[in-house]
Amino acid sequence: MTALPRTSTASADRGLAARGAPELEELHTVARALESQPATAAIEWAWDRFGPDLVLAASFQDCVLVDLAAQVAPDLEVVFLDTGYHFAETLWYVEQVRRRYDLDLVVVGPDLPADDLWLTDTDACCGARKVAPLAKALAGRAAWMSGLRRADGPARARTPIVTYDVGRGLVKVNPIAPWTDLDVDGYVRDHGLPVHPLADRGYASIGCWPCTRPVGTEEDTRAGRWAGTDKTECGLHR
Ligand code: SF4
Repeated sequence: MTALPRTSTASADRGLAARGAPELEELHTVARALESQPATAAIEWAWDRFGPDLVLAASFQDCVLVDLAAQVAPDLEVVFLDTGYHFAETLWYVEQVRRRYDLDLVVVGPDLPADDLWLTDTDACCGARKVAPLAKALAGRAAWMSGLRRADGPARARTPIVTYDVGRGLVKVNPIAPWTDLDVDGYVRDHGLPVHPLADRGYASIGCWPCTRPVGTEEDTRAGRWAGTDKTECGLHR
């Protein structure tokens, strides 16, 4: 695998120092090399490269990525975006996973009280309750990691394992980008991972309760998100 120059974690402005270091071509080379390696290799590379300047943003739909990260980067900070509209089952599941892995979990919420914006403007609601809190969580960091997968749907079909998040000026790592749904199910089964209580009730993709419904066996996994609208993404993964 191609090695990138290490980031100086001693810098006062850790994020800026790191942002200037990786060249796009280097990221592409690393991404290509990681395609033939296990997901833990991507996490290991990112942890070795960025250390505490790396954050894992977990949706807690499952805990596959958390489990993988715990094997090679147990001190990695994990962020959960609490929109204020999660299912009670999700909040329960987050706590189960936090305890199981003794996670360094940071819960970040929006800077606004409950409202009904999701009824009239889901883009603005996601912007205030997901995108803005993520920006807060990533402030000063150099890289972030997500459980984005190509199998999630056409909009994510070309997701690289390592890329540059241009909008945020950060390196973005998607260790399980190549994993299929079967890969995820098999890993959960083989490793005895805790399962989100809604997963067995037809919720193939789990977001906020106002914008998530269960899907039929013939539907895409994300068909239950903002169903009946043309919205497919919340804005976290641009
Ligand atoms: S998924 Fe729905 S409730 Fe959640 S932040 Fe987006 S619009 Fe708001």
